Amino acid sequence: ETLANQIAAGEVVERPASVVKELVENSIDAGSTKIIVKIEEAGLKYIEVTDNGSGIEKSDVALSLKRHATSKIKSHSDLFRIRTLGFRGEAIPSIASVSEFTIETSVAEEKSGTKLVAKAGVISSIEPMDKRVGTKITVANLFYNTPARLKYIKSLQAELSHITDIINRLSLAHPEISFTLINEGHEFMKTVGNGDLRQVIASVYGISTAKKLRKVEASDLDFELTGYISLPEFTRANRNYITLLINGRFIKNFLLNRAILEGYSNRLMVGRFPLAVLSIKIDPQLEDVNVHPTKQEIRLSKEKELMALISKAIDNALSEGVL
Ligand code: ADP
Ligand code: MG
Repeated sequence: ETLANQIAAGEVVERPASVVKELVENSIDAGSTKIIVKIEEAGLKYIEVTDNGSGIEKSDVALSLKRHATSKIKSHSDLFRIRTLGFRGEAIPSIASVSEFTIETSVAEEKSGTKLVAKAGVISSIEPMDKRVGTKITVANLFYNTPARLKYIKSLQAELSHITDIINRLSLAHPEISFTLINEGHEFMKTVGNGDLRQVIASVYGISTAKKLRKVEASDLDFELTGYISLPEFTRANRNYITLLINGRFIKNFLLNRAILEGYSNRLMVGRFPLAVLSIKIDPQLEDVNVHPTKQEIRLSKEKELMALISKAIDNALSEGVL
């Protein structure tokens, strides 16, 4: 099983940022309102994610290291209406198999918490501990036992920017959650978690950027669209400032990006791209997330209709929208 986990790790945990993503998504799935991420050496030396979520029951802590032991899918039909970010039960076993891993967790209903320590996926101890709120997971010396993977990490600076990108997108997706990123002991980014997307944009991209936005709102029978876009005179040189969220999940979709640009039409200079944070709510039946383990690409039914709605909403926001 350790080998199977290391193989899965090749797919699920490509780099430190993938570990951060999977751990933070678990914290989100656990209903946390406060998530703190600490990293050292761009996550290669140390990653710590602390949350105030539901925690893991004593009897389930060891199970979370087993493959496909997800608590999030209970029936076959759940697979077709996924509401949580995780559902494959692959992340924790994969991450644990390529690191020195600890979980400290408690649930409200139990008198004590649990601390689990594992090395290269093998549990070295599970003991009761003092009760805490939620869960703290630490990942030290990532890839120490898979040197080939370690070699593939070339620049710490690039890894750090992958991590900040992940935290930024997850913060934009969840204005109701307070995120803190601490790098080498210094606070790098923090969102307040009061539900105000414009404030998250200010924390992520700066206050002056957040002042130059238009609000977008539109809906039809199948889709509900909300968010902010930059005014055409405050656009950027690349498309990394576009964040598309479908049912709270950050996705990449070429056609929907194109729909955003079409909404700007001739207002946009050639080679310029908007900053946009668009959150789209759809019936989970219209999306199929089960395409790739990292779940960034998704298939959508009624994609054409959604494109038209996006373009029109953006055009409206730019012609008459409120600041
Ligand atoms: P998945 O998210 O696909 O279910 P993971 O391997 O990411 O699988 O996690 C395995 C299980 O461990 C989850 O289903 C959940 O029950 C539990 N878990 C992991 N992280 C947390 C957390 N921060 N808070 C509560 N439960 C967690
Ligand atoms: Mg998960």
